[in-house]
Amino acid sequence: MVKHGARRLLVATHNQGKVVEYADILGDTGLDWLTLVEAGITDDVAETGATFLDNAILKAVAYARLSKLLTLADDSGLAVDALGGRPGVLTARYGGPGLSAAERYGLLLRELGDTPDAQRTARFHCVVALAAPDGTILGTADGVCEGRIARAPAGEGGFGYDPVFYLPERGLTMAQLPADEKHRLSHRGRAARAIQPLLSRTLTNLT
Ligand code: IMP
Repeated sequence: MVKHGARRLLVATHNQGKVVEYADILGDTGLDWLTLVEAGITDDVAETGATFLDNAILKAVAYARLSKLLTLADDSGLAVDALGGRPGVLTARYGGPGLSAAERYGLLLRELGDTPDAQRTARFHCVVALAAPDGTILGTADGVCEGRIARAPAGEGGFGYDPVFYLPERGLTMAQLPADEKHRLSHRGRAARAIQPLLSRTLTNLT
């Protein structure tokens, strides 16, 4: 079991949906991790990068410097083929400020209108970046989950666009999957598993 102190990991997101997922995904690893709220950090680092990678790195660096902790940050979003890859890095802000998740995916459904199923292909991206307490980037990893934008929302699980992200091989939306199955298939689960060996090595070296 990792003890409190230098070996703690900050999971740097203000998105409660992501916090819940990282609690699940990292829960079994024995890592001693904390959230931004628990670290007393209220600053919101602006996502000014042009790519998921840029944004994951800039968030990891900024929050590591603020907290002086080993820091994991992610940037994620939805790329819809029929919209030329939009909303992409702007997924969290799609439709403008102050909208609920349901309003954002409602807008997406309206924008796609009657687009046939075969052209409703989309993918979730997630890039995670790990920064040392001084802000040095130690590594990054990514995860992708392929699917389709449903015609109507379904399901109560997950967060964000999950009710309209349909997985053809499961015949369900992401919001209809049990959490452990979402993590097995999701962009975030894949990215988190890909960074895990680096995370373990880094924590071992900090002993
Ligand atoms: P960001 O990574 O903070 O830029 O936010 C990405 C946005 O993409 C979130 O606010 C969600 O709207 C959406 N998103 C990212 N991952 C997921 C997911 O697993 N399910 C549903 N929506 C997601």
